[in-house]
Amino acid sequence: MEPKTLNEAAKALVSQRKGAALLAGGTDLLVNMKQRVFQPKVVINLKTIPKLAYLSNGKGGLRVGALTTLYDIASSSTVQEKFPALCQAARAVGAYAHQAMGTLGGNLCQENRCRFYNQSAFWRGVKSPCYKAGGDICHVVPARPTGGRKPKECHSTYCGDMAPVLIALDAKSRW
Ligand SMILES: Cc1cc2nc3c(=O)[nH]c(=O)nc-3n(C[C@H](O)[C@H](O)[C@H](O)COP(=O)(O)OP(=O)(O)OC[C@H]3O[C@@H](n4cnc5c(N)ncnc54)[C@H](O)[C@@H]3O)c2cc1C
Ligand code: SF4
Repeated sequence: MEPKTLNEAAKALVSQRKGAALLAGGTDLLVNMKQRVFQPKVVINLKTIPKLAYLSNGKGGLRVGALTTLYDIASSSTVQEKFPALCQAARAVGAYAHQAMGTLGGNLCQENRCRFYNQSAFWRGVKSPCYKAGGDICHVVPARPTGGRKPKECHSTYCGDMAPVLIALDAKSRW
């Protein structure tokens, strides 16, 4: 669906619960959908909401909209001059296409990655499903045969390049 306002998008997200996915640049989401890692019933396209892509440096500091592309962040003269680490982080993301399409919001909210999970459905079908796929095992850290109960823990890791720099800069999120 193509909401025109943030409220419309938020309502759609709440009404669909886990069946909906937000789409920004699509460089993470669409790959996961192609691999059948996610199969959302509804895709909510954020790009139809105006004014979510902006960079402004005022009294309150630097403000960056969720739909601002990593390319725009990296090529901003303000960011280059005043927040060089943020510029470096944006330039470190994937390849040029990921930076040109990928957004700040998508980068921060990207899924964790695991070599046993982020694979095609065919590839994953060779092994039994792991915890994250609703199964009973973690292929990265299998439960030890001690007889004790082990929590179903997923050990996939967060890979976003922007978050560590934003944390170091004490950035805040605003609705
Ligand atoms: C081959 C490859 C290499 C990559 N390399 C890197 C890398 O080196 N470093 C790195 O950090 N990332 C990497 N990525 C991940 C991804 O491309 C980037 O993180 C990109 O910035 C994601 O932004 P996007 O706008 O395309 O997100 P999308 O794919 O549109 O969305 C990603 C996730 O965030 C959610 N989302 C998007 N926008 C919002 C929002 N405003 N509010 C709430 N949720 C939202 C979506 O629902 C989805 O779950 C790579 C991906 C691929 C496929
Ligand atoms: S449960 Fe284990 S195998 Fe599955 S995604 Fe998490 S870390 Fe990877």
